[in-house]
Amino acid sequence: MRATRQAAPALAGGATPVSALRGVGASVAEKLAARGLATVQDLWLHLPLRYEDRTRLTPIRDLRAGMPAQVEGTVEAVERGFRYRPVLRVAVGDGSRATLVLRFFHFRAAQVAQFRPGVRLRCFGTPRPGQHGLEIVHPNYRVLGEDEAAALGDSLDPVYPAIEGVGPATLRRLIGQALDLLPDAAALELLPASLPGLAGLPGLRESLLALHRPPPDADLAALAAGTHPAQRRLALEELLAHHLSLRRQRLAQQQLSARALDGPGKLARRLQQGLPFKLTGAQQRVFAQVRADLALPVPMQRLVQGDVGSGKTVVAALAATLAVERGCQVALAAPTELLAEQHLANLRTWLEPLGIRVAWLAGKVTGKARAAALAEVASGTAQVVVGTHALMQEGVAFHDLALVIVDEQHRFGVQQRLALRDKGPAHGHVPHQLVMTATPIPRTLAMTAYADLDVSAIDELPPGRTPVQTVAVSAERRPELVERIRAACAESRQAYWVCTLIEEQEDDGKPGQGMRLQAQAAERTFEQLSQQLPGVRVGLVHGRMKASEKQATMRAFKDGALGLLVATTVIEVGVDVPNASLMIVENAERLGLAQLHQLRGRVGRGAAASSCVLLYQPPLSQMARQRLEVLRQTNDGFVIAEKDLELRGPGELLGTRQTGLAAFRIADLARDAGLLPQVHAAADRLLAQAPELADRVVARWVGGATRYAAA
Ligand code: ADP
Ligand code: MG
Repeated sequence: MRATRQAAPALAGGATPVSALRGVGASVAEKLAARGLATVQDLWLHLPLRYEDRTRLTPIRDLRAGMPAQVEGTVEAVERGFRYRPVLRVAVGDGSRATLVLRFFHFRAAQVAQFRPGVRLRCFGTPRPGQHGLEIVHPNYRVLGEDEAAALGDSLDPVYPAIEGVGPATLRRLIGQALDLLPDAAALELLPASLPGLAGLPGLRESLLALHRPPPDADLAALAAGTHPAQRRLALEELLAHHLSLRRQRLAQQQLSARALDGPGKLARRLQQGLPFKLTGAQQRVFAQVRADLALPVPMQRLVQGDVGSGKTVVAALAATLAVERGCQVALAAPTELLAEQHLANLRTWLEPLGIRVAWLAGKVTGKARAAALAEVASGTAQVVVGTHALMQEGVAFHDLALVIVDEQHRFGVQQRLALRDKGPAHGHVPHQLVMTATPIPRTLAMTAYADLDVSAIDELPPGRTPVQTVAVSAERRPELVERIRAACAESRQAYWVCTLIEEQEDDGKPGQGMRLQAQAAERTFEQLSQQLPGVRVGLVHGRMKASEKQATMRAFKDGALGLLVATTVIEVGVDVPNASLMIVENAERLGLAQLHQLRGRVGRGAAASSCVLLYQPPLSQMARQRLEVLRQTNDGFVIAEKDLELRGPGELLGTRQTGLAAFRIADLARDAGLLPQVHAAADRLLAQAPELADRVVARWVGGATRYAAA
């Protein structure tokens, strides 16, 4: 670029702030920063959404509806009308014996004056069928001078994701300036060419240029699909960076020390003896893994995956006894109050007979009760503390916290998990972490998303469960279902009716619009069903009710006093009522597979044959039909997770609050899942052979360089 600033040497690096670019004042810099674009490198990585081909002209007669094209022609006629709203129509011809109409709904007088017959125009847009042949609504256009032979573009024009307050032309210009600052390939490239996965892919510099300024003959279809080699190259480096970042965190963790919880396990044995059931083989295996981890003076970081109903809670309770046996404290956090309450009840039943004191700390615990709980936690009188996000708040201090258990981890952010971990004692120890999830995720994805955790699977259900029969039924057949509920309740079985509208946010202090609408829908359904089922006692649970009301209703349902429970997705996690054998899910087509599978896990917990009816609003899209079919065919959470990834991508599986994973700039875990094995191999190689390069890759893509970078 032309050197217009003094700081030329610094400009060679991607770390240069955008404010060093020409035309970037404080206000533009601020707007860019609001979208995470702070440095020149951020601009390099701000990739086009799509491309417009202005490298050639298309004769008007060759235009096709729906295909963007550039046209040059002469204004033949202009018509201004006011039919329903003002409209300006400009007919353009190019001698190819066809006419194109440009149509404007918003226009200024000056514009109208421009379009005199005989004036030459060059315009770009997507033609659509109009009243008289093809037309382009609001084309991009410019008026050409008398004899002007304006040059055609020599690369495809990038269209960038819009940035509020920075016009597209400005953004293009700034990115162009940033690209002029790209160092040569050798200086930019961090990855050795021999790294697994790189063979056959272009280098970083070449890839960036290919994506920002693709040549006229670029493979537009591949670019649109995200499978162009340049895109794969960038996705690979980005995935590698995120994976390395988690692996670095893990290595950093392993440098820390934790209390070795290596007692004889007497409490654990007594707990097992007191249980009304025998642990499954999978539970025993996973508990043995946890116990081996806890015995070491290094913080455990283990994720236990287990399908709904696989019995994770008792494994958590067993782990807790190991900490208590060593005189330490345990915190168990669950994402919803309902779930936390159930854990509290379970842990009290199991642990109090062993003389272990279990305390309760949730958002609704206030005043004196809260002060008392806090005091017990701080003094160490409470050996096990169960709660919600409230556990993670400031002001909650532990006496000697040695084990943190987080249930349904995907509902928490990583930051929250770390906040709880940071509540460990100050004697140079950090707590062990046990993370539980009922959302099985495919192995390669787990290795990427949870590269900082060891993963165990409880892959066996307790005996005596009969698989849930699943059917998908059009909402038009709702009356039949009311009959089925009547019949089930007449046989003293119980049923759930799940109302869904939009994802519900619970217990995070931000009850949103979605929750209100959902609660209203549930209330309406509750009233309807109460009328239609006069002989059945119907209860209602939704996220806008007081926790005490919710709890009372849940308890009544659990005790069998209610036959039918109308609920929102708050019952998704944790609720355990073995006598419930029928579930109806409304608008099932709107929910993700993983979530439906979770919901369905509420039935089939007892010995009776259970069924789950997925009600949908016809017509079903092809995709929705496929998804419901998956649920009909299998009860295996891992199979469902693989399908979910295939059909919808990882966002659904991991939850939007998941780590940096939601924040990929280029990679798309579903599209690029095939790259993951190479990413893992490349990470192994870099960490073993060039850890300093690994740090630089992380710093480039993930940031946080100060935390992990060696230099
Ligand atoms: P999840 O893995 O979904 O959290 P829970 O821990 O809630 O499952 O267990 C589901 C139910 O199964 C509970 O009622 C629990 O007491 C029971 N349970 C757990 N392990 C066993 C077992 N080995 N045999 C029989 N029932 C079990
Ligand atoms: Mg559970």
